[in-house]
Amino acid sequence: MFFVYTGAVGAPGFLSWSDVKALEAGGHEVLSHTVSHPNLQQVPDARLASEMRDSRARLEQELGHPIECIAYPFGSYDGRVVKAAADAGYRLAVIADGPSAVDASPALELPRWKMAYGEPLPLFVQRLCAP
Ligand SMILES: [Zn+2]
Repeated sequence: MFFVYTGAVGAPGFLSWSDVKALEAGGHEVLSHTVSHPNLQQVPDARLASEMRDSRARLEQELGHPIECIAYPFGSYDGRVVKAAADAGYRLAVIADGPSAVDASPALELPRWKMAYGEPLPLFVQRLCAP
C-alpha cells in the first residue's frame, strides 16, 4: 500500500502521476495521505476538511476508482481529525504505530507497525509475532 500526498505528485524528486498509475498497474494499492502532509491536529477546520477531501478527489480523478482509506501524516490524529476523515468519506484510516489491528479496532484509527528504513528483518518478524 502506498499512501500518497497529492500535492507532491509531479514535483521534482517525487513520483509523477504516471508513476503512481504504474504502481497500481503493478498490483499495489494507492491511497490518500492528504494534499500537503500537514500535522492534522495543528490545522484549522477548513484546511483539515480540504486536505482530506481534495486529496481523495484528486486520487479518484487520476486513478478512476473510489479512494476510501487515508493515513494520517505523522500518525497525528485526534477526535476532530477522525470526524473530518469520516466527513470526507473515508471508511478506513491508519495511524502510525501498533499494536496489531484486531476486529474491534476503530475503522478510522487502525494501528499498524512502523518499520523504519534500515531496520533488520528479524525485528519486523519479532513485531509481527508479539502479542
Ligand atoms: Zn507521511
